[in-house]
Amino acid sequence: MHLKERKKFTVKIVILRKFIDVSNMAKKCEQCGVEFEISEEENKFRERLFPVIAGQKYVLPEPVECRDCRRQKRFAFRNERGMTMAKCAVTGKSVISVFPLDSPFPIYSPEIWYSDKWNPLDYGLDFDFSRPFFEQFKELQSKVPHISNILVRTENCDFCNTVGDCRNCYLIYGSVNCEDCQYGNPYDSKNCIDSLVVRNSQFCYECVDSEKLYECFFCQNCNNSRNLWFCFDVENCDDCFLCVGLRHKKNCILNKQYSREEYDEKVSELKKKDYEELLTMLQNFKKTVPVKTVLGIANENVIGDGVNNSKNCKNIFYSQNCEDGMYASQLLKTNNFMDCDFGENGDFLYEISGFYADNGSYFSHWCFECNNIFYCSMCGGNTSDCFGCVSLLHKQYCILNKQYSREEYEKLVPKIIEHMTRTGEWGKFFPMNMSPFPYDKSVANDCFPLNPTESGKIDKPFRMTNSEIEFYKKYNLHFPVLHPDERYKMRINLRNPMKFFDRKCDKCGLMMKTTYLPEYAGKVYCEKCYLKEIY
Ligand SMILES: [Zn+2]
Ligand SMILES: [Zn+2]
Repeated sequence: MHLKERKKFTVKIVILRKFIDVSNMAKKCEQCGVEFEISEEENKFRERLFPVIAGQKYVLPEPVECRDCRRQKRFAFRNERGMTMAKCAVTGKSVISVFPLDSPFPIYSPEIWYSDKWNPLDYGLDFDFSRPFFEQFKELQSKVPHISNILVRTENCDFCNTVGDCRNCYLIYGSVNCEDCQYGNPYDSKNCIDSLVVRNSQFCYECVDSEKLYECFFCQNCNNSRNLWFCFDVENCDDCFLCVGLRHKKNCILNKQYSREEYDEKVSELKKKDYEELLTMLQNFKKTVPVKTVLGIANENVIGDGVNNSKNCKNIFYSQNCEDGMYASQLLKTNNFMDCDFGENGDFLYEISGFYADNGSYFSHWCFECNNIFYCSMCGGNTSDCFGCVSLLHKQYCILNKQYSREEYEKLVPKIIEHMTRTGEWGKFFPMNMSPFPYDKSVANDCFPLNPTESGKIDKPFRMTNSEIEFYKKYNLHFPVLHPDERYKMRINLRNPMKFFDRKCDKCGLMMKTTYLPEYAGKVYCEKCYLKEIY
């Protein structure tokens, strides 16, 4: 439903105001104890997302957990890379599974899960008003079969997870519209290996948060360029090596201009060096060159980092083509959202971890093509108006996987919201311990490691695929010496944290918001000073 239509509902805001804390005082996070504030702007924004059920608008209460804790919970419900071999509980066929083998629920291969060989409504529960909702949901979740790994319209992508419209890919995660890609999170890309959010690119290797690259290697935050090696924040450039912050250049090394011949000669020497050494050279060089406070292009009224072509967003990261949102990361073409991570084509989303083409989705994870759903997990295929459901496809008016009539549904859901307001559950994402994934396999472990000191290198042996070897040979790349997991960790660690720090521009002294840590030793410039320096 669009905002305009939503505004037609002038009905009074129902639900027990006395249970809802409307103060703007600093609050103590229920999970970590840190004090945090909720701004007036945030409250106003949340109000526009209040869901409408049967003509009544429902309050989304102020969060009782700080932003980090809220994100940590959502990240704990996302496992991109931790996969094991399992057996489909129906066919016995070997499948790759994102769930551990000792999961309480049966694991189904995508082929069975999507079929009519089973009925998720067979597991339905009556709502019990004498018990908390989460407890009942957990009971349901532990019985309903889960899809081993989410594949939506894919071909030859059996070892991928959470991908849609992809062909011939291997170990890629959260990707859409890719072909012949391996390891990482490419989008709309072909022949990319080891990527972390690389979009519209081809023949790239070890690139991070970049777009429209062709034959680029070890690049971060680069755009619209060709044949870059070990570059950071380089745009519209060709044939550059170890460069930072360049625009419209060719044949540069360490930001210095060379002739074509000199460039080729020097680069062929440099390429002999160990890649880890070159990466260190890039990081050291970066500290001698001013960097932009946050990265992003073609934004309007956006406070974010790694955000492009977006409008009216605050506190968002690594996202594109988004409008009207707050506190989010890794979104594509999404509007009207708050506290959301990982997804494409969404509208009116609140507290979501992982979505695809959802419209009106609240407190849910891993749902696709759903409308007006609440507290659902892994539902899809035009499921709408459901509450607390697991693994549903093409269903409407279900609660805890039990089918109701529209009238019954519209009568029961308000009662459940009221009940959950009393139990303190309404307005919160699922508790972390209800995640079907072990914490150390979840994305949460990358950003909020429970044992940050345990950072020994992964030493497991690993294999290379034939096409991978071909790729390395084609571009004369050294074969990787690190395990794919270790390579992934290195890419993740290249990113700044997903939070803002106050810092003075190292040129003009203006106070600004940046994702560079206060202890970052290089020069960080405000956007204005940076543009003067660059162009
Ligand atoms: Zn907290
Ligand atoms: Zn400045």
